[in-house]
Amino acid sequence: MKSTDLFARDTQLVHLGRDPAANHGIVNPPVYHASTFIFESVEQLLETRRDRASGAFEQFTYGREGTPTTRALEDAVTRLEGGYRAVVTSCGLGAICASLTAFLSAGDHLLIVDSLYGPVRQFCDEFLIKFGVQVTYYDPLIGADIAHLVQPNTRVIYLESPCSLTFEMTDVPAIAKVARARGITTIMDNTWASPLCFRPLEHGIDVSIHAATKYISGHSDLMLGIAVCTEQSFIPVKKTASGSGYCGGPDDVYMALRGMRTLGVRMPRHQETATVLARWLQQRPEVARVMYPALPDDPGHAIWKRDFTGASGLFGAVLRPCSERQFAAMLDHLELFQMGYSWGGFESLVVPTYPSTLRSARPWTEPGPSLRLHAGLEDPDDLIRDLERGFQRLAAAA
Ligand SMILES: *Cc1c(COP(=O)(O)O)cnc(C)c1O
Repeated sequence: MKSTDLFARDTQLVHLGRDPAANHGIVNPPVYHASTFIFESVEQLLETRRDRASGAFEQFTYGREGTPTTRALEDAVTRLEGGYRAVVTSCGLGAICASLTAFLSAGDHLLIVDSLYGPVRQFCDEFLIKFGVQVTYYDPLIGADIAHLVQPNTRVIYLESPCSLTFEMTDVPAIAKVARARGITTIMDNTWASPLCFRPLEHGIDVSIHAATKYISGHSDLMLGIAVCTEQSFIPVKKTASGSGYCGGPDDVYMALRGMRTLGVRMPRHQETATVLARWLQQRPEVARVMYPALPDDPGHAIWKRDFTGASGLFGAVLRPCSERQFAAMLDHLELFQMGYSWGGFESLVVPTYPSTLRSARPWTEPGPSLRLHAGLEDPDDLIRDLERGFQRLAAAA
């Protein structure tokens, strides 16, 4: 255990992944731009080969395998989540694809949550299936009953909680327990919570994944992924990520580390503003339902409260049925909520969502249009006024 493990999370965010004494006293770690590492002798070169073959991956050999800058970010997020080691990748989807392919072979069976991040579904349906992996989508509310879906060839159970677009809460410990008892690897997308609000490995998960593109970097200006691993899962994930070419760029890694320093002040503010907006939306006649597990009347609230230590600023809403023209009139001219994919940056965002096209185990049957909102760091009253004017346009377009 390093001494930083003993500090509170906010203190860790400030001090992890940097060592001024090793770097002329400079506060932040340097950015190493490197493809090539020079070896001083054949013996030194052979030592790096032995290091790799043993699965240690301690030494630096080639840019694709990471640099000390990469290692700094990996170490910091590993400590935040209580992992063994982590692997930085080019983007969040890369961390997911590397982790899935690390444990799956032709003939294996994958159990994967139905309400997951859309591009992962595409990866399963278009690529994993092509390589002979059998894929079953499960209901996010399944809990311990997932045992009934396990087959003799089930190798991986994949989770995301709360789920993308519809924000159902999955009972992570219940599913992890079923998996552990059967030697099945569990992989969880923990992007929504960031390392601050949920620690998957403490709940029995083997690999915890973040799109560092989102909250960890926090400024909407880079793509990066990270997979935090247990000791058993590290070597397969590391080998697959570097063997498939998923490496992250040095400047992006540096900026993610820089963004991460303020995660402890950003997350509570995102949660606070999202809560204000969600409550306000619940009172609006145009809104059928708000999906945000931090709200006491959300169906997933009990699980969220039991397992999570906070919430992020991302949530969903379903409107009462209205015309496409009305829906567009609302969204098209929002001033502060700009329309764009991604989230986790300092700014508020909104996108219309179409969950029915991405569900099979638990069909989406809401009659009204749905949207996803990201509560940024703006003043909440300004954000409410922006949405209020949107609803006025919606009514006027009737
Ligand atoms: C954005 C996102 C990803 C993918 O991350 P990229 O860095 O965009 O590849 C994965 N999971 C979730 C939940 C996301 O929101």
